[in-house]
Amino acid sequence: MSRDRVRCTACLEPIPSDARICPHCTAVQPSPLLDAGLVGGGVFAFLFGLILTVMTLGTTRLVGFTLLMLGFGLVVGGYTRYLDRQDKRRGR
Ligand SMILES: [Zn+2]
Repeated sequence: MSRDRVRCTACLEPIPSDARICPHCTAVQPSPLLDAGLVGGGVFAFLFGLILTVMTLGTTRLVGFTLLMLGFGLVVGGYTRYLDRQDKRRGR
């Protein structure tokens, strides 16, 4: 994992990893924070849903189970997006 060798998504020139805008073609770079927030929220929803599912009964348990599934989807989705972008950057 080389986090300091980030490439622009548009022109593929190397840019600083914390740059939001490419210095070569001024294309706005996708923020890794967005995926991190997605995964973080997913983990939170997953844990909260797990607690609800285990600790409660009836409708609340159903809500907890829905949160559990939602959180799982967010984590998997966010991680897949992250892997996709890593692949794109490594390619070429
Ligand atoms: Zn660029």
